[in-house]
Amino acid sequence: MQEVGGSIPPGSTKFSLKIGTKWLAPLALAAFFGLGSKLYRHVIDSLICLFTLRVSTTFCIMTTEASLDPVKKVLIAGGGIGGLTAALACLHHGHEVVVLEQAAELSQVGAGIQIPPNAMKVLQALKLDAEIIQRGFSPLALEARMGTTGLRLFQIDVGAAIADTGCWGAPYVQIHRADYVDVLATALAARAPEALVTNASVNSFTQNGKGVSVILNDGRRFDGDVLIGADGIHSVVRRQLFGADHAVFTGNSAWRATVPIEKLGDYAPPPTACVWMGRGRHCVTYRLRGSQLVNFVGVVEHNNWPNDFHVASLQDEAWSRQGSKQEMQADFAGWHKTITHLIEQVETPHQWALFDRQPMKNWVQGRVALLGDAAHPMLPFMAQGAAMAVEDGWSLAAALASVTPNTVTVMQDGDDVRVALARYQRHRLKRAHRAQAASRDNAQTFHQRSLWGQVKTYAPMWLGGKVAPNAVRARLDWLYEYDVTRFQHN
Ligand SMILES: Cc1cc2nc3c(=O)[nH]c(=O)nc-3n(C[C@H](O)[C@H](O)[C@H](O)COP(=O)(O)OP(=O)(O)OC[C@H]3O[C@@H](n4cnc5c(N)ncnc54)[C@H](O)[C@@H]3O)c2cc1C
Repeated sequence: MQEVGGSIPPGSTKFSLKIGTKWLAPLALAAFFGLGSKLYRHVIDSLICLFTLRVSTTFCIMTTEASLDPVKKVLIAGGGIGGLTAALACLHHGHEVVVLEQAAELSQVGAGIQIPPNAMKVLQALKLDAEIIQRGFSPLALEARMGTTGLRLFQIDVGAAIADTGCWGAPYVQIHRADYVDVLATALAARAPEALVTNASVNSFTQNGKGVSVILNDGRRFDGDVLIGADGIHSVVRRQLFGADHAVFTGNSAWRATVPIEKLGDYAPPPTACVWMGRGRHCVTYRLRGSQLVNFVGVVEHNNWPNDFHVASLQDEAWSRQGSKQEMQADFAGWHKTITHLIEQVETPHQWALFDRQPMKNWVQGRVALLGDAAHPMLPFMAQGAAMAVEDGWSLAAALASVTPNTVTVMQDGDDVRVALARYQRHRLKRAHRAQAASRDNAQTFHQRSLWGQVKTYAPMWLGGKVAPNAVRARLDWLYEYDVTRFQHN
């Protein structure tokens, strides 16, 4: 099969050349010596017969070999947004999938999430966009305001375009996390009813040239061609691949809450994705479920995190707790009435410590690859963590489909998978690092502490929003305009 190289389709030109060379000489000789003679005509007929037989036999062999099923059996550790999207993308590209999720049932924090246009393009390709839009909320604009006065610094209108194609080629949608996961999980159950395995906590894996085996905490074993570690920021797959490392507490915590809009009256935040900026803190407001709910994320820097918040436990990346309304009010005291009124209506505020990791140079080893937060956890200041996981999922599935026995000239066991995963990493690393860096930079932008810092950061923003709104918008083009579904791996 080594002759079958390049991107030649099964059983086509190149193999007929191989046959031709072998039989051309006797045919030519026969034609030269015997044309017209009955004897030689018989010889020629027999040769043609043999040739045809040989062609069809070879064709059969080649067809069988060339169509050696390129379907990969993909094991996915983690049934979060990244893992579920990767599973759907793998099915779309013709692979088999098994999603191993540790929880008894899929669940999410009771909060919202923004799905920017770059992620919506993947959901469009998976034919889930209509349901996402129907269950979510499409903001009229993205805007930035000062936290205390409410002064609008800039606004990027996306609402008008959403009905058609969206500013960046797809809509911008905000949705409750539970609804998002439900849409993904329901689609997966419909497209591959056996694919999701719950109560399946991945413990470790082994791999060799022929495949990968995952061992669960309860001893069960699953075999496949590829393992995707989509098991989030505390990834056990990452730990086994690259050793234990420690995430760094960024000094920021995030309050999260949702409030029914009817409780907010005239102080309901605008129907936008709005960042409210202030000294050492910022918050984000947006709507969910067709405007029935308002989502609030309040990020606060803690230079001296008080002792009673168990500083020691901040080594634990999963740190979160139920806080009190009073603490939340204290964090945003003196802010615009829209924010303080919203906080007054919060029933059970929860707070998360925000951790970060240095960008990793490598997400792949052999038949195992990481995606989403397992590969590139990022601060939520660009609303891109899950969006990047969604892009990763598509890219990985497409990379696996891009490599078949026909496109890898000299193949040994497992080479197609290795080539595919190398393609995936080459495609994704730079963009994910850029999003990680941009998210970090936004902490500086949003949290300006000094008056001078505020003036030099926010005045140009305000001016830009007035005189060159398109230029403000264009700064986000690299992020939102990108369409991972159009990328060709090679
Ligand atoms: C306050 C806040 C706001 C955010 N807002 C946005 C936003 O608006 N837009 C956006 O795009 N992103 C946002 N993000 C980021 C986003 O939430 C994450 O990037 C995203 O959820 C990562 O998805 P994931 O599938 O990679 O990981 P996860 O969501 O962490 O999923 C991992 C899954 O793996 C499972 N798992 C873990 N270990 C194992 C194991 N050993 N075996 C089996 N299963 C396992 C878990 O149970 C879980 O289901 C925000 C984050 C925060 C903190």
